[in-house]
Amino acid sequence: MNCIIGVDIGTTSTKTIAFDLGGQVIAKADAKYPILYPEPTYCEQDPEEILRAVVSTLRRVTDELKKGSHSPLGVSFSGAMHSLIAMDEQGKPLTNSIIWADTRSKEYATRIKHSPEGHTIYLRTGTPIHPMTPLCKLAWLRDHSPDVFRRAHKFISIKEYVFRKLFNQYVVDYSIASATGLFDIRHLRWCEPALAAAGITAERLSELVPPTHVVSDLADGLAEALGLEDRIPFVVGASDGCLAQLSANAIRPGRASLTIGTSGAVRVAASVPAQDAHERVFSYVLTEGTYVVGGPINSGGVVFRWFRDQFAAPETEEAARTGTDPYDLLIQKATVVPAGADGLIFLPYLLGERAPIWDADARGVFFGVSIGHTRAHFIRALMEGIVFGLYSVGLAVEENTAKIDVLYAGGGFARSDFWLQIVADVFNKPVRVAESVESSALGAAAMGLLALGVLKEMGQVEQMLPASREIAPDAGRHATYRKNYDLFASLYGKLKEDFAKLSELAAPAPRQ
Ligand code: ADP
Repeated sequence: MNCIIGVDIGTTSTKTIAFDLGGQVIAKADAKYPILYPEPTYCEQDPEEILRAVVSTLRRVTDELKKGSHSPLGVSFSGAMHSLIAMDEQGKPLTNSIIWADTRSKEYATRIKHSPEGHTIYLRTGTPIHPMTPLCKLAWLRDHSPDVFRRAHKFISIKEYVFRKLFNQYVVDYSIASATGLFDIRHLRWCEPALAAAGITAERLSELVPPTHVVSDLADGLAEALGLEDRIPFVVGASDGCLAQLSANAIRPGRASLTIGTSGAVRVAASVPAQDAHERVFSYVLTEGTYVVGGPINSGGVVFRWFRDQFAAPETEEAARTGTDPYDLLIQKATVVPAGADGLIFLPYLLGERAPIWDADARGVFFGVSIGHTRAHFIRALMEGIVFGLYSVGLAVEENTAKIDVLYAGGGFARSDFWLQIVADVFNKPVRVAESVESSALGAAAMGLLALGVLKEMGQVEQMLPASREIAPDAGRHATYRKNYDLFASLYGKLKEDFAKLSELAAPAPRQ
């Protein structure tokens, strides 16, 4: 029987999964790798280690398939966005992969954003100008590593690196290109003013291809090493963010995907890109004529994890003793506090924030603490504050696209019905949650089936997705949350300048 392999090259691991044509998982393997922090603002990964993870997980999956009756029609890819690797003429990396979380180019981002071309670059590339983007990283590299910058023959992302090593060619799909800040999302070509700001020409970037582009001449001996047929099609695929939209079942109008994993995002699919005067949201190309419009937040599950690590010794110990999950125990405490946490409001910006405020200096605040507040109030306020952050993104997305009718939830937080209910109530919209989704790998597999003609259009991807259940909003709780949210939004406006002053004071080094 036929199947399709999706390879999801993520930040913490590569997950390789074979799905049957109905979307059922038949074999899977994953391999983790570390993030390197050579300097406080640097976040890097070793591209060779990631390539090894891709090769080894593929091999484990094909070995598994050989034991059963499935044979793969093809292999399709999902890649993390915003990474940058400088490559020399011989195809050797001159740098590590500089990943999305790296903020070394903060000053360059500010400079380009406020330059006369800044707003035009945002509108044409669809990417908010931020240190995460290869645009700003290149401008930094030009000044701080002039030798590497000069010697670099190509500047690529991690998924392009894998294709270069497997096929000896440099190809980049429209959606990964969209996340560079260098790509003209309307004309599907590199964007001249952005290239000028980065100090490069288009020859130093890969060939642009649609996500359905197929390559099939694996470098010598590789097919055998991977346990694959010689000319098996490899589909270039797309970015993890855009593919997750496909697997969240949120391609149709009125549907949004909402994720809280380590970070978070709200996204919709649209036929035209956003034109946001305030530069709050991104518009990435998924396929020609389909844009994924949305905003990412830093302050997702990582904030909850911080609370667990710093303030939840009792729950952590109880969980270890009883074999339960400390998050579940923390959430149980929060359930006894009413919606709105009795007026305790939390700004979750421990790591600065991306959408919608794009302010690296923003920090966390508990506001309105009174003598009656208990630790349970802090837990509830923290969970509500993360959702308020996403709600502010949702409002900006709606303003730039169309009304959202239903939210498709994903990420680690979706394990908690209580948290899903907060989302439904804050947004005042139904939330749908699938029992289990391997989101980006499934999105890659679906894109693979579209490329190979097994699926005829994106709407058909729905038949591969698991069933979902719905959580309804409560109008009364929404009214309470709306009052807290109004204060949440106005607080940030009042504190903005003080956050900038605060950033000049010494701060503890980030945990690694
Ligand atoms: P990643 O972004 O690395 O893929 P996940 O999607 O697994 O991560 O999400 C991890 C986050 O999900 C954790 O930081 C935590 O905040 C949240 N989380 C994990 N388990 C639970 C749970 N049982 N209930 C609520 N939230 C949870």
